Amino acid sequence: MEWRAETSRGLVRPKNEDSWSVVGLPHGWLAMVADGLGGHDGGEIASALAVSCIQQYVAEHFLGGDPGQVLKEAILYGNGKIRESAASHRGVPGMGTTVTCVLITSDMSRAFVGHVGDSRAYIVSDGKIRRVTEDHSVSAELVRNGTITEEDAMRHPGRNVLTMALGTQDTVDVDIYEEALRPGDILVLCTDGLTSLVSPDEISRALVTHDRDRVAGELVDLANQRGGYDNVTVVVLWPQAVTG
Ligand code: CA
Repeated sequence: MEWRAETSRGLVRPKNEDSWSVVGLPHGWLAMVADGLGGHDGGEIASALAVSCIQQYVAEHFLGGDPGQVLKEAILYGNGKIRESAASHRGVPGMGTTVTCVLITSDMSRAFVGHVGDSRAYIVSDGKIRRVTEDHSVSAELVRNGTITEEDAMRHPGRNVLTMALGTQDTVDVDIYEEALRPGDILVLCTDGLTSLVSPDEISRALVTHDRDRVAGELVDLANQRGGYDNVTVVVLWPQAVTG
């Protein structure tokens, strides 16, 4: 496994409320991005809590369990912990976060993606990029029912309005996807700070144009060159990378 990550506050926001992690476990790898929401430090707290709780839960339960089920339970566990924190003096009422995480089996043959919100997972296979996750946002619903196009959605005022997030409700419907991985496949996890300014084709092209050490940084720079209106986080994973 090879991976690189880059995050940026962007050019406008006072702080970075995105969180991310990549961690090797005894039976696989877990990577995620989370995009926090809610004022007064709430976003930062919620996204960091999501990452740490999901990581902890998966580390303790992945052994022998069904990966998709463990991921779903981990995200629900994170939801409960964010709500507990929001209700106590430690957190901020109403705080929440997106989360998009991928659990890759140790033989690198399968990836399980767990998702709530409008961060995204893409798979690039044979140079073709494909989005794995469906955004839980108002604009994405308009794309799904044919009212606006995918391109319109990048500029639509509803792109930042989430229909589901972690921490904001007692229950969440977690999306779980299972993907078979082939040699050379690349996984990209990112927050909407990237996808509202950089298209999937541009992400795919950057993966071909730049070497591994530069690609995540180049994508973040591209979002910032186009205004950097939001925090930007990119995690790139090469599960079956040939090293050297
Ligand atoms: Ca964001």
